[in-house]
Amino acid sequence: MTTRTQVAIIGAGPSGLLLGALLHRAGIDNVVIEQRSADYVLGRIRAGVLEQVAVDLLEEAGVATRLHAEGLPHDGVNLSFDGQRHRIDLHRLTGKRVMVYGQTEVTRDLMDHRAAVGRPTVYEADQVTVHGFDGSNPWVTYVEGGVARRLDADFIAGCDGFHGVCRASVPRNAIQEYEKVYPFGWLGLLADVPPVDHELIYGHTERGFMLASMRSSTRSRFYIQCPLTDKVEDWSDDAFYDEFQRRLPPDAAARLVRGPSLEKSIAPLRSFVAEPLRFGRLFLAGDAGHIVPPTGAKGLNLAASDVGLLSRALAEHYRGSPAGIDTYSQRALARIWKAERFSWWFTQLMHLFPDNGPFGAKMQRAELDYLVRSEAAQKAVAENYVGLPLE
Ligand SMILES: Cc1cc2nc3c(=O)[nH]c(=O)nc-3n(C[C@H](O)[C@H](O)[C@H](O)COP(=O)(O)OP(=O)(O)OC[C@H]3O[C@@H](n4cnc5c(N)ncnc54)[C@H](O)[C@@H]3O)c2cc1C
Repeated sequence: MTTRTQVAIIGAGPSGLLLGALLHRAGIDNVVIEQRSADYVLGRIRAGVLEQVAVDLLEEAGVATRLHAEGLPHDGVNLSFDGQRHRIDLHRLTGKRVMVYGQTEVTRDLMDHRAAVGRPTVYEADQVTVHGFDGSNPWVTYVEGGVARRLDADFIAGCDGFHGVCRASVPRNAIQEYEKVYPFGWLGLLADVPPVDHELIYGHTERGFMLASMRSSTRSRFYIQCPLTDKVEDWSDDAFYDEFQRRLPPDAAARLVRGPSLEKSIAPLRSFVAEPLRFGRLFLAGDAGHIVPPTGAKGLNLAASDVGLLSRALAEHYRGSPAGIDTYSQRALARIWKAERFSWWFTQLMHLFPDNGPFGAKMQRAELDYLVRSEAAQKAVAENYVGLPLE
């Protein structure tokens, strides 16, 4: 039960599937091994804002047709505090925009493309284990429908998320981990109701943070900051909408339409980076190597930029040059740390921190006030929000 491929990709999230599509474009054989079912992967409600770099990579992979037909290009983003709303004109300040298109839709497009081009994906793989990546012939073992299988490969790409097996298989003394855990979570609600505004609103209030986001012109994603001790069962839809409405600026609050939740969940907030991202013939990409708090919408975008760099590095390797794979970790981390900084800064700016104290709260207010009055400060935010170039 042994098969062979060039690149064994662990995980069928956005990073694994996009890597598979980009490698396919480059003529590189690959197999994706995923522990869950395709439906389970598609049922996970997560990110929804794509940077231009991510859109470009999806185009390069040949999976951007529906994205361009159904995605919502956004030229600006709004910050609200003290009941006032302030727009940051992303397009005027940077010449770029972001695209609202759900992670589930990106995943569906990538899955459909993979099926159409006939590249194999193993779903519901049990006991996935990576072997021999410190040598020249790595392999992966797993159990599929009760049958033990072995996949030999030139390389293994660990695209298996924060709790995956790849990073956990690296010897502890070969990896350094940096982490910050935030003292609150985001309670999110997804509903088929129109957005409260045509652009996103990030709000700082004395009751805590809120984000009014959307997946389409008929589907909204709303978030409120909540204590980590809260349980999702404690929040009825009505209780959520009441609290969310209190945190919205008045004009948007007046437009709020309530509807039954399609999904409701609490996500903890964490900043995390593992260094390096290469261990012999094993590479980490996406959430397997780093996590950002969702403020700033960088998680999915970083997953895309990592695999953009990794696919180019592997293509270079198969053309005969090791330069790409030798510098992948360093190049990816340079971009990751900048996105980590922005997500951390934006989280600090917008949330209520239990231990901030009156001085910390005044600093936060002064920074918000400065930001909405200074074009230079807004430009720095806009440049990071639309995404730094892939270098
Ligand atoms: C609740 C939540 C909300 C989020 N909201 C936002 C947001 O609003 N904006 C934003 O930008 N980002 C958000 N993110 C982050 C974003 O969704 C992730 O950054 C993105 O999914 C990363 O993609 P990935 O493919 O690297 O990892 P994942 O999407 O986690 O995919 C990893 C895949 O690997 C599989 N896997 C795990 N272990 C194994 C194994 N042992 N063997 C085989 N397969 C395995 C998993 O089942 C999964 O399918 C959110 C994340 C979460 C968890």
